[in-house]
Amino acid sequence: MQPRLHYCDHYGIALPEGHKFPMEKYRMVRDQLAVSGRFRFECAPFATQQQLLRVHDRDYVHHFLQGSLSAQAIRRIGFPWSPALVQRTLASVGGAVAAAEDAFTQGFGGNLAGGTHHAFVSEGSGFCVFNDIAVAIEHLKATRGLRRVAVVDLDVHQGDGTASIYEDDPGVLTFSMHGAHNFPFRKQRSKLDVPLPNGTEDDAFLDALYTSMPQVLAFEPELIFFQAGVDGLREDKLGKLALTPQGLQQRNHFVLQTCRRLAIPVVICMGGGYSLPIHHSVQAHAQVFLDAAAVFQERIATMRNGTVGTL
Ligand SMILES: [Zn+2]
Repeated sequence: MQPRLHYCDHYGIALPEGHKFPMEKYRMVRDQLAVSGRFRFECAPFATQQQLLRVHDRDYVHHFLQGSLSAQAIRRIGFPWSPALVQRTLASVGGAVAAAEDAFTQGFGGNLAGGTHHAFVSEGSGFCVFNDIAVAIEHLKATRGLRRVAVVDLDVHQGDGTASIYEDDPGVLTFSMHGAHNFPFRKQRSKLDVPLPNGTEDDAFLDALYTSMPQVLAFEPELIFFQAGVDGLREDKLGKLALTPQGLQQRNHFVLQTCRRLAIPVVICMGGGYSLPIHHSVQAHAQVFLDAAAVFQERIATMRNGTVGTL
């Protein structure tokens, strides 16, 4: 049986000429993964209002869905509002919720979108409308009674929205490793922050990860959210770090094998990737899902006819 991944790239949104967000990458990642023949692809369900409201402010959700946010709030998000943006956003968050459920059967769950870690309770920012990680975590708390969840955010930008949402929640450990001199310039306080200097290369990055992870594991998380942004690549136009594809793959293996070894379900969301040309990011985004399929191969092989054990 093949593990499933959730996608929402078919909800296209039109961006103005010259917009710096590489919307096309999501479809390219799915196409690349399809070639491997290792996955099933499912159209992500829409997140429900009930799911969104466990995290987000009622007025903010309402105004976004209705298209009545202020011009300033829309500018902060960075995408022009449209009904198509609403559909895509709801599917991106719904994909995270569905992937979180998959983690309990497949060992890992994958959303071919999301990682929208700059979204706060009552405002969006930096191409993030709603915080898919927090919405999925609150869904799991409400439906499965999870008490301890860790967020391992290895995108090059700090997970400021996630940090803010969980600043006073002892049930969620937020860990963010990010460029010290990159967006967001006003950082929030994660439970564990590891700022990195510009130009950081693989060895220093991996050392910092290996040193930090024991603190995450000491929390004894029942599930880990892996924000697997690839904007730390040397070729990234926004990243300012100097990681290689091999370095990112070592990062992936370390996080995923740790989860596998300790039987901690892991949810993977894509996060940022803005390389020039974009195929460097696409390749690296696809790789994390291929790495997960390899690491969890044995577990997936035991899945029969949809009847599977739980971790
Ligand atoms: Zn990023």
